Amino acid sequence: MTVMDEKVKAELLSLGTVDVEPSLLPRFRTSTAGPGMGLQSVFFSSGGLRVRLEVNRDSPLKMVRRDHHVVITRDDREIAEGIIEEVVAHCPGQVYITVSERCIYNCQFCSVPKSEGKIKSKEEILAIVEAAKKNGTLTVISLTSGIASSPDDEIDRVAGIVRALAPYNVPIGVAVHPAPGSSKKLKVAGVTEVKYSVETMDPEIFDRICKGSKGHDLAFILESLREAVGIFGKNHVSTNIIIGLGETDESVRQSVEYLAEMGVIPVLRPISIPPLRIKELEGAVRPSPERLLYLTEMTRKILRKQGLSARESQTMCLACTGCDLTP
Ligand code: SF4
Repeated sequence: MTVMDEKVKAELLSLGTVDVEPSLLPRFRTSTAGPGMGLQSVFFSSGGLRVRLEVNRDSPLKMVRRDHHVVITRDDREIAEGIIEEVVAHCPGQVYITVSERCIYNCQFCSVPKSEGKIKSKEEILAIVEAAKKNGTLTVISLTSGIASSPDDEIDRVAGIVRALAPYNVPIGVAVHPAPGSSKKLKVAGVTEVKYSVETMDPEIFDRICKGSKGHDLAFILESLREAVGIFGKNHVSTNIIIGLGETDESVRQSVEYLAEMGVIPVLRPISIPPLRIKELEGAVRPSPERLLYLTEMTRKILRKQGLSARESQTMCLACTGCDLTP
């Protein structure tokens, strides 16, 4: 049996898609959070690793059934055998919910602003969590949200929801845009970990991809991350850095050094190009397996030097690991 190791996972992540045998398909749901929002995806697990792949008929990777397992092949070469993991809500092992499926910002890598989706009420979210509790799958809750009207209002909305979820007594992770005083508010509400994403720390790329997002300020996000570490502690604050927007390896290294020195764990996220963003993301390229492995190893060394460990993280992407080579 060929199992997935980190090299194989890098190859799969570099492509990011898989053509799935139709008889396996009805088990999958459309994602409502993360890079695959609005797309159908599958979580493949093998060799103790997990990867999330978008379902796409044109993918060079094929997934077929073999007895009680599934096999991923490429050009008839078997790449890995494993299982399909059941999704609790958005990802395996976590009830991961998007609160506001809309955003006043217009970052070019993100499909949320294009979706103009709904804002889930506290009651709707409680119903999802209650259903997970009833079927025995409630171990972690993660919330993410676009910005429906302002960062401040969104923090208040999410904090209110977290207060209602606190009695479930499970770790709660929140991935949102920060606002002044947001870490304190979220901590008091009952949040365990936060993620404020910088997406890129290359100022030129930040300006380019986040233009049209008035008030979206890299310096403020960094300041908020520093404050968050003081409140939530090391290993409980993370940020996404997108890989594939034209940044150099050296700029990624400098960003990782800067963040890790503050006590923040960076999640290196291969760019996803949502169908609605193909024009804006012209020139964006998913990283090669070699680049992913190189950047992950580099990040691992830097985190170790700063006494940080992704294993300590309990919620969101660092606990899920589906979309990244987690350091
Ligand atoms: S790694 Fe993060 S974005 Fe990807 S599926 Fe898991 S929780 Fe969602």
